[in-house]
Amino acid sequence: MADPAECTIKVMCRFRPLNSSEVTRGDKYIPKFQGEDTVVIAGKPYMFDRVFQSNTTQEQVYNACAQKIVKDVLEGYNGTIFAYGQTSSGKTHTMEGNLHDTDSMGIIPRIVQDIFNYIYSMDENLEFHIKVSYFEIYLDKIRDLLDVSKTNLSVHEDKNRVPYVKGCTERFVCSPDEVMDTIDEGKSNRHVAVTNMNEHSSRSHSIFLINVKQENTQTEQKLSGKLYLVDLAGSEKFLYSTAAYIPYRDSKMTRILQDSLGGNCRTTIVICCSPSSYNEAETKSTLMFGQRAK
Ligand code: ADP
Ligand code: MG
Repeated sequence: MADPAECTIKVMCRFRPLNSSEVTRGDKYIPKFQGEDTVVIAGKPYMFDRVFQSNTTQEQVYNACAQKIVKDVLEGYNGTIFAYGQTSSGKTHTMEGNLHDTDSMGIIPRIVQDIFNYIYSMDENLEFHIKVSYFEIYLDKIRDLLDVSKTNLSVHEDKNRVPYVKGCTERFVCSPDEVMDTIDEGKSNRHVAVTNMNEHSSRSHSIFLINVKQENTQTEQKLSGKLYLVDLAGSEKFLYSTAAYIPYRDSKMTRILQDSLGGNCRTTIVICCSPSSYNEAETKSTLMFGQRAK
């Protein structure tokens, strides 16, 4: 079992393929890969816990980035996985992918399946309660994606000084399908309130929270773990300071993530990158952010 006092931050780096408009424009494919953990851009090597080349499957990314954290959450730890990178670098593809397709589904639907498979495999003395929340932060306002009437929620601290979003809808769920329906509902709420979805999603953080409570009905032993799954705003939209791990001046996101980067955290950061020569400067700054986060 993992040492409870230890904080593990893993930084993974994923390059998407060149897209068709980049190919048409004649952009070059700039990353060169060395082994499983190093990418070289313009002669400079950047090292991570893992580097995923453009042909890496969603399943491979899940196994390396999320499987261990899910296990920890089921043992009662809190975990965070967040995707960082410029707009169109593959953050949403990595976190969500196609929610309803077995091959192209991303980290979130795979986590949900894994959690329920675990529950179904346990003996009946264990009682599970799974609840999910889904919200976004835009211009430092927290909007509940499962209740559109809640447009400006605030961050509070619980008795252990762990931050949480006060008053956010918590939906009890009993199957992977129910979770997917809940995500679809949240996404359509998000669309309804927004005129330019591309612009909006590049400027807002979206956060899906899974809360797992379990109780052994014979021993009355209880365990509780929380998992934050965060699709950050496009990194090009923010000025960042070199002092903090967290580049966002946006204070609510910072407060929520703070707990994930200190103490006994279980955190994976997936740095998402474009491979195109056109984005070289932005890719380098994304890679630098990833190196600093270690
Ligand atoms: P972001 O959320 O960072 O703005 P997206 O995840 O929406 O970026 O990705 C931009 C486009 O590139 C989408 O059409 C997505 O399907 C595609 N894409 C991203 N990553 C990959 C990948 N690894 N393989 C194939 N297509 C990808
Ligand atoms: Mg996105």
